[in-house]
Order: sequence, then C-alpha cells, then structure tokens
Amino acid sequence: MSSWGCPHEIKGICTRVNNLPCDLGMKGCVLFGRFRFADPTKNRPKKVPAPIPAPDDDKA
Ligand code: SF4
Repeated sequence: MSSWGCPHEIKGICTRVNNLPCDLGMKGCVLFGRFRFADPTKNRPKKVPAPIPAPDDDKA
C-alpha cells in the first residue's frame, strides 16, 4: 500500500500557499485544477465550447 505526501506540507501547514493550513485542492495547491473534488468550489469552472458558426447559405 502506498500513499502520497505533499512536499509542501509541513506539520499540516502549506509552505506553498502563505503558510495556510493544508487544504487539498485550494487555490494555489499543486493539485488545484488537476483533479475533480467533491467540493465544487475547488474545481475549475467547466469550459464552455465556443458556439459553432452557422454555415453560410449564400455560398451555394
Ligand atoms: S494545500 Fe496542496 S500544495 Fe499545500 S501542502 Fe496541501 S497538498 Fe501541498
């Protein structure tokens, strides 16, 4: 069995994000935007595809 340990976490404090308590997936965390979290505030908003332009009917 293995586990993952963040190299930025020291005694529950995140040395990457202003020495705040480690909160996986918070903004600035190395995991932010790389995974989907149960907490939707930690997820990036879904990308909305650009609308497909309507074909020109005049070219026929
Ligand atoms: S918040 Fe993210 S980057 Fe910071 S210590 Fe926790 S896992 Fe590491």
